[in-house]
Amino acid sequence: MTDGFIDRLREALGQRSVLTGADIEPRYCHDLAGNSVAQPRAVVRPSTTEEVSAVLRLCHREKVPVTTQGGMTGVVGGALPNANEIVLSMELMNAVEEVDTSSGAAVVQAGAPLQKVQERVEQEGYMFPLDLGARGSCTIGGNISTNAGGNRVIRYGMARDLILGLEVVTADGTVLQGLRKYIKNNTGIDLKQLFIGSEGILGVVTRAALRIFPAPTERQVALCALPSFAQVISILEMARRHLGGELTAFEVMWNEYYRLTVERVKGVVGPLPIHHSFYALIEASGDDADRIHADLEKLIETSMRTNMILDATLSTSNASAATIWRVRESSLELSRTFPYAARIALDVSLAIERMDEYVKAIGVRIKAIDPCAFAIVFGHAGDGNLHISLHHEHTPDKREDLEKLAYQITSEFGGSISAEHGIGVEKLRYLKMSRTQEEIETMRMLKRALDPNNILNPGRIFRM
Ligand code: ZN
Repeated sequence: MTDGFIDRLREALGQRSVLTGADIEPRYCHDLAGNSVAQPRAVVRPSTTEEVSAVLRLCHREKVPVTTQGGMTGVVGGALPNANEIVLSMELMNAVEEVDTSSGAAVVQAGAPLQKVQERVEQEGYMFPLDLGARGSCTIGGNISTNAGGNRVIRYGMARDLILGLEVVTADGTVLQGLRKYIKNNTGIDLKQLFIGSEGILGVVTRAALRIFPAPTERQVALCALPSFAQVISILEMARRHLGGELTAFEVMWNEYYRLTVERVKGVVGPLPIHHSFYALIEASGDDADRIHADLEKLIETSMRTNMILDATLSTSNASAATIWRVRESSLELSRTFPYAARIALDVSLAIERMDEYVKAIGVRIKAIDPCAFAIVFGHAGDGNLHISLHHEHTPDKREDLEKLAYQITSEFGGSISAEHGIGVEKLRYLKMSRTQEEIETMRMLKRALDPNNILNPGRIFRM
């Protein structure tokens, strides 16, 4: 990259939108996992789609690699820049442009933080249902490019299911204008799907039309203690049947997760004793408080009568619902009470009927590498998604062996090595455990077609 290139960027965007040297703050080089990397050559902060297009046109012409950044809450290193790259930060394009309740759509810019979108939509009595722990910092563009999941997938689907239309700038600066606010559109290939979940390697999302829904006025939560995983599956089926559309979350915590969170994370109060094998958090939402409460109560009564659950508590207010959610949402704080470097975070998916056997296999087989290693497990069990934290404090040098073993076991169980976090650079070498050679080669063909100079997030997901 020549200095002339930086000058041309400044000409296109103005002096203040292009940062170099000491003006580049450390936050552009850190992500949530605490990884820190060398400083990129420049940070570019466009304010409009036209400016994004101008930047990419220049980068395409001069073959300059670009890392697109949102809220930097990823955990697979996908948004961390390399020293030869420029960072395209979407932080100035953060407006919620329109909330259209008649269409059930909100049009937002890609750099808008998820929580800002949620709150703006709530002002109209609506909700944008995508929700995850990083809501305050993660951005819609990041959510889209990683096809974010989170806590309400069981009812509303992943980010992919919540996108009506996208505006995208491709590698050569072409603007694909697909900001449509309706669901049905069978006019050839649905191009927006290429950019959802592809981690920014095919284009830069600049604006999105999101699906919004009337907000339920009542949200209540039950926490149940269960003796075995078979009972977890039974109560999930029962909750689906009895709560129907009211069921908005079904989360499971294994004993170690629940117990250690209550014992180690400040401010967390465990609503149930800590000795049970499994804990299921069931959230029901709707407009009729009495009905929601009665439905959850009936579910608990019936399952207690049949010994499906051993103990349970039901929220009586928003505050008590928040107390229950707090246990489940303290996973990051819990992991920080252990040495962070000796921790492997797995985000896998597999058929729920095999989860128990799978977690047991992980727990047993990691001990062959490190007899003191242990796993802490929770997950969005209703979506087939588990988050497993592997701790190996006494063998920090065995990280790769443990990681490889865990993905090997995941592959044996027919699972996916990434349910919602993506591949980035961290999981690149394991991609072939979840995707066939033919699938990966087809991904490369798409990349070559849309980004012939390989400038967009190069080296993420796979190498060319
Ligand atoms: Zn998750």
